[in-house]
Amino acid sequence: MLKCTKCGRELPEKEALVHIKESKEQEIICPECFQKCAGIDYKTFSYRKESAKQTFWAVAFCLAATLYAFSEKGILYGIAGLICTLLIWRFASKIK
Ligand SMILES: [Zn+2]
Repeated sequence: MLKCTKCGRELPEKEALVHIKESKEQEIICPECFQKCAGIDYKTFSYRKESAKQTFWAVAFCLAATLYAFSEKGILYGIAGLICTLLIWRFASKIK
């Protein structure tokens, strides 16, 4: 059994969250304390983190494709690719 360093509650390992403080120390906290610290619950937090990661990769992929199109096919394709990238980025940030 692990113990929450904030409220002292005992919690099963799978519920325990590791919070890394600014001093690089690790502390074990429970989901409730996480919610109090972060202002959002852990599920929302990890969902947002995950979707931000996906957006990042989608945009990175589009940018790479744009650069490729630009160097291989010329500036018009580059601009078209850039517009696509912007659209995807805008669309993805609207979902959140
Ligand atoms: Zn706690």
